[in-house]
Amino acid sequence: MRIYVSSLGCKLNQAEMDALAGRLAQAGHQVVLSVAEADLAVLNTCAVTHVAAQKSRQALRRLHRENPEARLAVTGCYAELSPGELSDLPGVDLLVGNEAKADLVALLPPASAVEASPLRLGLETPGRPLARTRALVKIQDGCDNACTYCIIHVARGPQHSRPPDRVLAEVGARLSAGHREIVLTGVHIGAYGQDRRGEPGAQHDLWGLIGRILTETSVERLRLSSIEPWDLPERALELWRDPRLCRHLHLPLQSGCDATLQRMGRRYDTAAFAGLVRVARAAIPGLAVTSDLIVGFPGETEAYFARSLAFVEEMAFARLHVFPYSIREGTPAAGMPGQVPHQVKVGRARAMRQVAAASSRAFRQQFIGERVSVLWESCQERDGRCVWSGLTDNYLRVQAPGPPGLANTFSSVHVIGLSERGLRGRIEDQKSGG
Ligand code: SF4
Repeated sequence: MRIYVSSLGCKLNQAEMDALAGRLAQAGHQVVLSVAEADLAVLNTCAVTHVAAQKSRQALRRLHRENPEARLAVTGCYAELSPGELSDLPGVDLLVGNEAKADLVALLPPASAVEASPLRLGLETPGRPLARTRALVKIQDGCDNACTYCIIHVARGPQHSRPPDRVLAEVGARLSAGHREIVLTGVHIGAYGQDRRGEPGAQHDLWGLIGRILTETSVERLRLSSIEPWDLPERALELWRDPRLCRHLHLPLQSGCDATLQRMGRRYDTAAFAGLVRVARAAIPGLAVTSDLIVGFPGETEAYFARSLAFVEEMAFARLHVFPYSIREGTPAAGMPGQVPHQVKVGRARAMRQVAAASSRAFRQQFIGERVSVLWESCQERDGRCVWSGLTDNYLRVQAPGPPGLANTFSSVHVIGLSERGLRGRIEDQKSGG
């Protein structure tokens, strides 16, 4: 069968669809790059906010509009939480919860049942350019915490970790396929291994796993997707002595006000968070600390918001994702008093983003005149020449003119200035590694 896979939302959703594409190709299906060519389209949905749920419905309608003949299989957090809201959408043929997602291949008619093509159109067909430079590798799923605004731990269930040897094997396979950077992802990666304690041979937490990947594989760059602040012990910072571990920590703060953090059920206060960031920055020169923040959480008064804003300014994040609080039915916060009016949330988000933009600019400014190593992803034609775009290990987006064919290669770049969200540079020489 010709199958199109796509996903919305988090890196974990993306990693799952990449892995599914590989399994479908192994099962003899053709993974096609557009729904127009497909007999079946699989969408991995997101429901982290009501906007995300709306986008999932819109995506399904678009898939059906683009190819009314294609059957639609829907999975992901929205399918898990509200199957009834999706089952009547046009073209929806199969609804698969998060638990059963990994077995989706088995739910489909065997490839032999329809005209099978030996050609593997999977993302990692040898000799075929990679669809993405960075490979997202899922290491765990689910979460045992219950932050009061969060619906994900409901949709994804209790935390469970993939066996370390399976993770190592997938990392090896991705590297053999040509990926130069691996991103470890999951719902709550900091809890990795906690569910396997006591199992024979299971001596790993996240830091043990990272140690194994660095010693047992030829990975050139290893990045962590997101790590809860309470999961980063000082001893772990030793691992960053290895320059292949990306100097990038995404630590979701969610609020810069202690009273709000308490109502959110977060397991730290601002003093602990600030201490952690201070120690990490001292241990890892050039470290990019990025974060997520909610404005307008129930009960967030003007005074609480002002505290949050001041704390965010003090933290000077390299990048900050700001989310106006979104009510999710089924979460404790949905029933909390002091719901903040929409317009107030919009205003607070604007103010928070202004502070975040200034901090991001200040972080990038310090690299002007420096040489940085960039892994190129894509190029845009401008005035008849290629302008490449890629990332440094510390999550700086860099653009520089260069010859064709630099995708998935490293260059040393002399930084000459700022761009809207990143840096501009001049390629000095091609590098063999990160
Ligand atoms: S740590 Fe909190 S926000 Fe993150 S997935 Fe778990 S419950 Fe949700």
